[in-house]
Amino acid sequence: MPTRKRLLGLRYPSSDIPQQARHLYTLNWLRLIPDVSYQPVALTPTNNPVTQQPLDLSLSVLRSVSPLHLEYLQNMGVTASMSISLMQDQKLWGLIACHHLSPKYVSYNIRTVCEFIGQVMSAELANKVTNEDTAYKVQLKTLQAQFIEALSQTEYFLDGMVQLEPELLQLVNATGAVICSASQCICVGETPAEADVRALLNWMKPHFHQSLFETRSLSQNYPAAESFKAIASGVLALEISKVHHNYILWFRPEVVQTVNWGGNPNKPVEVLADNSLRMSPRRSFDLWQETVRASALPWKPCEIEAVIELRSLLVGVVLRQADELALMNFELQRSNEELDSFAYIASHDLKEPLRGIHNYANFLMEDYATALDGDGVAKLQTMVRLTQRMEDLINSLLHFSRLGRAELMRQTVNLDELVHQTIATLTIARPQNEVEFRIPRFLPEVKCDRAQVNELFTNLISNAIKYNNKAEKWIEIGYLAGQEGEIAGAGNVSPITFYVGDNGIGIPPEHLDKIFQIFRRLHGRDDFGGGTGAGLTIARKIAERHGGRIWVKSIPAEGSTFYFTLAAEADA
Ligand code: ADP
Repeated sequence: MPTRKRLLGLRYPSSDIPQQARHLYTLNWLRLIPDVSYQPVALTPTNNPVTQQPLDLSLSVLRSVSPLHLEYLQNMGVTASMSISLMQDQKLWGLIACHHLSPKYVSYNIRTVCEFIGQVMSAELANKVTNEDTAYKVQLKTLQAQFIEALSQTEYFLDGMVQLEPELLQLVNATGAVICSASQCICVGETPAEADVRALLNWMKPHFHQSLFETRSLSQNYPAAESFKAIASGVLALEISKVHHNYILWFRPEVVQTVNWGGNPNKPVEVLADNSLRMSPRRSFDLWQETVRASALPWKPCEIEAVIELRSLLVGVVLRQADELALMNFELQRSNEELDSFAYIASHDLKEPLRGIHNYANFLMEDYATALDGDGVAKLQTMVRLTQRMEDLINSLLHFSRLGRAELMRQTVNLDELVHQTIATLTIARPQNEVEFRIPRFLPEVKCDRAQVNELFTNLISNAIKYNNKAEKWIEIGYLAGQEGEIAGAGNVSPITFYVGDNGIGIPPEHLDKIFQIFRRLHGRDDFGGGTGAGLTIARKIAERHGGRIWVKSIPAEGSTFYFTLAAEADA
């Protein structure tokens, strides 16, 4: 039969069944048109006299057919047609469409059997879908178990993911994957360049739905993907944490496919005599070949499910890590407090015997100086000096431990005024022109502990004065706001970053961390005006107590700049 041959093996677009028809097919298991050239008969009256509405004929077997449908069948060359609905989850999944070249009336018995076939097949469909890819689903579960194991053994989830690079691809049968965090992108297999991935991710962020984004033809929605369609036409992306910018993306390559349609699947539109448009069914059902490009194999529901499960696993790990971090922070805070009180008690108790040693050494010098020779007196003098130094150290320690214990008294402080006062106090004993102070712009008002921040500036400015052997010394005090701070190393959501810069002796790179340790000096005890080596430790404590941090950039012999913030980055 020529018609049968012509129609077999071809695809028909879903638009062949309009929405209203789809609804009717879900209500009725069968639809029979014994002869497309039947003569329709009108209903009388047109409207129901009681409701004044047209009669609902949805469930009527004798209901007439839409003229478009008849035209479609005629174009197809069939005279009789019957369809059996196939349902899944109360939705039309498909149709068994039966055609006949001559008029055909199907008896009630056969129709009942057909309806039964439709019901049995629909029930079977649900089974088929559940059991589809059983072996593949089992494989995916095994992979998930491997992820659980790897992730439970790592500190940071990215490390766990990296250990399982091939499994990461197998999990969704992808050819490439990228694990993205704010600071790095780890690429596995065939992926677009990192810059392309970052740009894609930025575009994709608003398109995530329940933490998932999925497409088999990316360039259709994101034209920039055209350039890498060969490796990434299909994309499946998982948002693990918006806050920490953690994402995983999987890629599939373009698979050029030839689709055999039963006629041009694009719905033809006819232009009528009055220039209006009319949808019309296509006239030809001859083979119409379409080459589909920039499209990958579709992501299977079980693959998407596997990815969703991976997400809950990762979120669990991230949450556990956050919990552990919180616990560690708590422990750290407690041990810091213990250390502070230990330092306080120790230094407090050490002071008294030290005073005694100091006094007795002085008594010895006063009362027995004549009984000692020059060497003996010199040794006693050294002893007095050393006890004096030890007292200075103990006082610094005491002060440091008090800082950790004291309540922070935050208030609005005009830092411009504060810094000018600090400079005035520090230069009181010095000739005015010895150091040039530069303050490029007014310093802002900030909520902070006035006394502590005063001490912070005092320590930094006095160091900047001390550690400078240039003939023309200068010190610059200022701040960086917003993105300016990023350049100085303050992170991308930084609060205001203050700085004190100088053109002094600088600090060798290997000592940049050490200078913040207590009692750590880089010079001889009395060089550069001496000091206990506690100033920067105290400065760091003050910045940290305010939720901020302190760091330094320096070039030996050229100068140093100390940066600090007085609020946490997230508060910015
Ligand atoms: P102190 O000044 O009492 O020695 P600090 O804790 O203030 O203690 O400083 C620690 C060390 O860091 C100093 O001994 C010095 O070597 C170095 N340092 C601090 N500030 C500067 C600076 N502006 N330029 C160069 N070196 C510095």
